[in-house]
Amino acid sequence: MNVSLSNLADLAVTLDLQGVIRSVDSASSFEATVGETFHSLIHPDDADKLTQALETALFLEQKQSFVCRFLRQEDPVWADCHLMLVSGSAPPEFALVAFDVSHWQQDDGNISHLATHDSLTDLPNRTLLNDRIKINISAVQRQQQAGFALQLLDLDGFKKINDSLGHAGGDKLIKDVAKRLKGLVRESDTLARIGGDEFAFILSGIRHEKETEIVVKKILTAMQRPFRIDGNNLYLTTSIGTAIYPEHGKDPGTLFKHAEMAMYSAKEMGGNCWRSYDRAVNPDSSDVTLESAMHEGMRNGEFLLHYQPIFCAISGKLKGAEALMRWENPEKGMISPGIFIPIAESSTLIELLGRWALRMACHQAKQWLSEASPDFYMSVNVSPRQFRQEGLLNMIKVALAESGLQPSNLMLEITEGVLMHDPEKSNSTLKELREAGVKIAVDDFGTGYSSLAYLKKFPLSVLKIDKSFVDELPHIEDVAIISAVLSLAKGLGLSVVAEGVESQEQLDFLASRGCNLVQGYLKGRPVSSIEFQKKHLADKHE
Ligand code: C2E
Ligand code: MG
Ligand code: MG
Repeated sequence: MNVSLSNLADLAVTLDLQGVIRSVDSASSFEATVGETFHSLIHPDDADKLTQALETALFLEQKQSFVCRFLRQEDPVWADCHLMLVSGSAPPEFALVAFDVSHWQQDDGNISHLATHDSLTDLPNRTLLNDRIKINISAVQRQQQAGFALQLLDLDGFKKINDSLGHAGGDKLIKDVAKRLKGLVRESDTLARIGGDEFAFILSGIRHEKETEIVVKKILTAMQRPFRIDGNNLYLTTSIGTAIYPEHGKDPGTLFKHAEMAMYSAKEMGGNCWRSYDRAVNPDSSDVTLESAMHEGMRNGEFLLHYQPIFCAISGKLKGAEALMRWENPEKGMISPGIFIPIAESSTLIELLGRWALRMACHQAKQWLSEASPDFYMSVNVSPRQFRQEGLLNMIKVALAESGLQPSNLMLEITEGVLMHDPEKSNSTLKELREAGVKIAVDDFGTGYSSLAYLKKFPLSVLKIDKSFVDELPHIEDVAIISAVLSLAKGLGLSVVAEGVESQEQLDFLASRGCNLVQGYLKGRPVSSIEFQKKHLADKHE
């Protein structure tokens, strides 16, 4: 006997692009007649699947699969359908084979949903994501949209959390994560769960990775907010990788692989960040040039520190200085730390620069202490990578010993996001630093999400309110935020530095609300050490 696929299938037909049946294999056990549309054989709710499959099969020339309900039999029958373009056919013709899969049917009768959705979160699963990628590709090809972004998102350190929560707790967390993510994307953007702690988004209408930045930042920030599971606050961060169609891959497989590579690259950078495929495999050439110029700049002594004074908000007395790195490149001019620090941070360069800044600032503080009040402090920024670096404590001890500066005159600024990334680990690092006698400030406070429980537990000295809250003062919302931070700080026995104070009105407001310390252009910009000495120290002795 001649066994073909159509002998094994319950139905084998050919269709045109409109779904009109052109031929029916005689061995078919399902009823179908030439000339009627395939749409009329199936449940109206499943009709779209057929239309999409026809279009995608035509444009991608790949087999399409879907599950639908056949109505022609006595009872509706679930059928697993596979559709492909008959090669070389003109006008296009499609071969469709269907298999009775009623035995897959679950209690609620909703087989197609089960086959395409994740049972825990009810989000589309990997199968449906793949379909949606294909559909998006065909939409771009039909020029209905610019392009799209595939974003893969993976929770950092989920295994550890899952182990400590137990299976049920881990499931709850994943459900909450799914719920939070759902709230962040448009209805039309697909959000899928594709693995244990792995999710994917398709953002349509995207031409360039830059256009995804707002959404990605929103996701990274939202995921930092604690999750409440079984009465505990859990802190998570995520790593996101992006690949853009068609730039980073022209077929679903390549696109997915490239988004995955980008996501792993984000993980390698320490997590809680986002990489696009482009930058993951082929770091921006301008970054590479800057990085090598930075190495050269280190050798040529192009880096220097500027110092910005920190004053008592009420008396106006000098209380300390923040060391801020500057790079004066002979060709490019003065380059802002906002540009070069993130690039240095993605390599070991930050460790060299950070060590240099710390040593330099300690020496400078020691010199100025002979002219300033004995509690004058030098504030030095510690980057995320430095904070996680094994030898941080030792590096600080060496800088203090070399310069002869007392640890109590040194403050380390660590951003809120870095401290809350892995609060348990942060706590033990902070404790070691505190034991060595140095003080800790939480930089850019208010821009991330802090756990009160940890703020209470961490051995901190100062909260630095981020400039963005000071900017709009006395705007009502910022007044409320600053008042809340001040009373929180008071309760925790911490000092508060308001950053970016530019007007007398802001200063008056802060002083009236009991903010101890201010830093900003109004009272002093970051300046060279010579200027600082002239402006803020020399007059004390005149
Ligand atoms: P940051 O630690 O929050 O530093 C405060 C930033 O606000 C500085 O920018 C300062 O010049 C600026 N600023 C202070 N007062 C005002 C004001 O009244 N108005 C305005 N518009 N800006 C004000 P800068 O020097 O460009 O540094 C930017 C960031 O670069 C710093 O933010 C810090 O995160 C990083 N950075 C600077 N130096 C170092 C360093 O030595 N190591 C590390 N890891 N990061 C550094
Ligand atoms: Mg700072
Ligand atoms: Mg700051």
